[in-house]
Parts: sequence; C-alpha cells; structure tokens
Amino acid sequence: MICLGIESTAHTFGVGVIDKKKHILANIRKMYVTESGGIIPIAAAKQHEQHADALIKQALADAKLKIQDIDLIAFSQGPGLGPCLRVGMNTAKELHNNYSIPCIGVNHCIAHLEIAKALTKAKDPVLLYTSGANTQVIAFESGKYRVFGETLDNGVGNFIDGIARYLGLGFPGGPKIEEIAKKGKKYIELPYVVKGMDVSFGGLQTNIKHKIDKQEFKIEDLMFSMQETVFAMLLEVAERALFHCEKKELVIGGGVACNKRLQEMCEEMCRENKFRFYCPNRPFLIDNGVMIAWLGINMATKNAKLNEFSIHPYERTDDVDVYWAR
Ligand code: AMP
Ligand code: MG
Repeated sequence: MICLGIESTAHTFGVGVIDKKKHILANIRKMYVTESGGIIPIAAAKQHEQHADALIKQALADAKLKIQDIDLIAFSQGPGLGPCLRVGMNTAKELHNNYSIPCIGVNHCIAHLEIAKALTKAKDPVLLYTSGANTQVIAFESGKYRVFGETLDNGVGNFIDGIARYLGLGFPGGPKIEEIAKKGKKYIELPYVVKGMDVSFGGLQTNIKHKIDKQEFKIEDLMFSMQETVFAMLLEVAERALFHCEKKELVIGGGVACNKRLQEMCEEMCRENKFRFYCPNRPFLIDNGVMIAWLGINMATKNAKLNEFSIHPYERTDDVDVYWAR
C-alpha cells in the first residue's frame, strides 16, 4: 500500500509519500513565513492553496509515481487552524473526486507519535510533543493515547515565537532564539510554572517582556535563561509521566524538538533515569506529510471509515479512538 499524506494544520503545507514497509518516497513542504512574526490563518491558507497542486506534483515526481499508483490519501483533520485544515481536506477531496482514491482524515498529534515510533526503536514511548500551537505529554494507556500533561495557555513554540516577535526577529522565531541563547552564559532567575502535570507560559511571557523593556540584562543571557527554564518545566512533566506510566522510552516531536539544547536535556534526564531517548531526524520532527500518510496506512489497514470529509480544529488527542493501536 502506498499512501500520500497531506499536512496543513498551520503554517506548513506538507506532502509525503510512504509505503507500508516504511519506505519514504517523498517528503516536501512549503512553509508560511513572515518578517513581522505570527501566523494570519487566512493568509497561510491562501498560500497553501496557491502551492498545493505543485507540491502534490513534485512529491509524485520525487517518488517516481503517477497519481494512479497511490492507494490511499491521508489528510490532517485536526487539531489546527480551520482555514488551513480546509485546504488540506479540499485537496484530498479533489484527488478523490478526480481519481477515486480512498481518503482518510487523521489526528495531527497522534501522527507525530506514530511516525516517531515508526522511525526509531521506540515501541511504547512517552511523547513530549512541543510544537507551535501544541504542548502535550502523551502516552498510550488503557486503550487510548492519553494526555498526561499539557500547556494551560500557549504552545511552547508560540510562546517562543511571541518573544521573538517582541524582539523583531520574525516568524518562526525558535531557531533564531536558539542561536542567541547559545551565546548566553549567566542564568537569570525566571518564573518556573508547573501546576500539577501542566505547564503555563503566559506569566513568563509578560515577565520576560518587562525584562526586555527594562534593558537590565543582556538579551543572550535572557534567552539562554528562558530556554533553560521552559525546557526544564517540560522535562519535569515528561519525567513524571514516564514514572507514572511505568514507561522506559521518551520520544520528542514538534518544531521545538529541533532545539539542540532541549534534545540535550532530554538525553540527560533519560540517562540519569536509565530511560531510552529517541529523537527522529528533523524532517520528521517538524510538521510533515509523511507522518500523516503513515498514520493513514495504520488506520486504513484496520477497517477505518474512509472518505469522510470533515475537519476537527479542536480535536483532542484523547478523543481519538485508536483502534489500530490496540
Ligand atoms: P510545528 O508547529 O511543530 O511545525 O513547529 C513550529 C514551531 O517550532 C515554531 O514555533 C518554531 O519557532 C519552533 N521551532 C523550530 N525550530 C526551533 C528551534 N530550533 N528551537 C526552538 N523552537 C523551534
Ligand atoms: Mg505539529
């Protein structure tokens, strides 16, 4: 079975092709970026619309396939920005109408987890999912992927991007902040907000903006301290979830997981606790079509409902019936 996956939850329109034996045949994307920072959902959706056909064509060319060779089309159904999700769904629907290819809608967060499992040796991991809009600690427990901890407000990526925007660094800000943070040396005390198993970034954002305004600290030191603080918060929750669920493997996913300092801290925590840490390669950490296609294959081989064209912008990880994983 060969599946073409379409990712379009937010800033990235990604197209990936993978077969049942995990051969990755194509993985391309076009990302919406801005100088001023932030995502305007309608503007991102418009860009996706403009590039969708060309990206599908290019992915098929990369895979050396014709559209008729595709057995299944998967699209991200949610959670995400409504206008962006709609472009992905409509692209899938058009291919379905024109070529009668079966289609399946999948959950984006679970796709991150399944692709991490597929591409690493992790079998039953805890996922620390750190992306722009989402920040969750997810694990399989009692027949479902359950959320053991999450952000109470912003996703960690959006939080970092908000600070980057304040500093005039554009979108996405995460990689730029990482470079600045590397030059920092002095740790500046910042609010550390873990409430039970959840984290929150709102107060921290205000605090850091005040510190930027006052100009009393070097930006390098402030960004270094910000990374150290928020990553420690995420690691605390992930570590507790690992013990609570009695699991031994940690995987990471989402754009913020590309951050080398976060990867290093994950490695360290796992080494200390004798857990195993797995980190997929960058193209599979960030939003990508391959993970959507891979989850589509998993679901379709277990009698999934096909050709239901709807989007679920607010779908929660634990709402999904994961019949294929049981
Ligand atoms: P996603 O929503 O999973 O595609 O991830 C996008 C988010 O990841 C954006 O908020 C980026 O700023 C953030 N991001 C990407 N690379 C890095 C990095 N090296 N360090 C921190 N954040 C990053
Ligand atoms: Mg994502």
